[in-house]
Amino acid sequence: MRLVLLGPPGAGKGTQAKVLSKEYNIPHISTGDILRETVKAKTPIGLKAKVFMDKGELVPDDVVIEMVAQRVAKPDCEKGFMLDGFPRTAAQAEALDATLTRLNRPIDMVLFFKTSVGTIVQRLSGRRVCRNCAENYHVKNIPPKVDGKCDKCGSELYQRDDDKEETVLYRIKVYDKTVPEIVNYYENKGALRTICGDFDVDEAHDYLSKLFVKEGLK
Ligand code: AMP
Repeated sequence: MRLVLLGPPGAGKGTQAKVLSKEYNIPHISTGDILRETVKAKTPIGLKAKVFMDKGELVPDDVVIEMVAQRVAKPDCEKGFMLDGFPRTAAQAEALDATLTRLNRPIDMVLFFKTSVGTIVQRLSGRRVCRNCAENYHVKNIPPKVDGKCDKCGSELYQRDDDKEETVLYRIKVYDKTVPEIVNYYENKGALRTICGDFDVDEAHDYLSKLFVKEGLK
């Protein structure tokens, strides 16, 4: 199962990808998570990426394209993978096609999470993330058992700088400028399937499970 999850920040792509990744035992590849790791580790790429990420802007194509090309070539992607947050530009979509053709690992389906602005702002402004293991919470929808602490590892939860309201609104603008052309790109290829990003976690999971059965994906 090789999937691309497309949609605005806060659409629930990452949450569904985590659930599906366990269920189907395939890696969840989030470019945002990989970039945040490089920022935390203060690598040269991380230091460069941080400047863009803090402003809610896209990191340059060459950086993310190379990162993903290396990741999908790894042996654990042989059985499949889920790309979350990539591609985000037409150049990334084309580079991904070229890489996957070379690896003989073509995309089976592109899931587009169509989401209202109200849902995006509500989800992102309440999102909290574990500093240690990057588990996601939400102050109302998915509260931790102990306020401010991760259920899994007990570390501190924080609000991402780019989840503050003014940056969220800017990220939505960036998204609106870039992603619709990718949606068209995959629609023209017949690979696009649309899911309502306003669904809650269980509704979205049910919808996707039925879709995979209908389309014969395993
Ligand atoms: P995300 O966690 O997917 O919301 O990504 C957080 C930030 O990482 C984005 O606002 C971008 O700055 C950067 N980023 C993640 N994925 C990409 C990508 N495919 N292309 C460029 N920048 C990206």
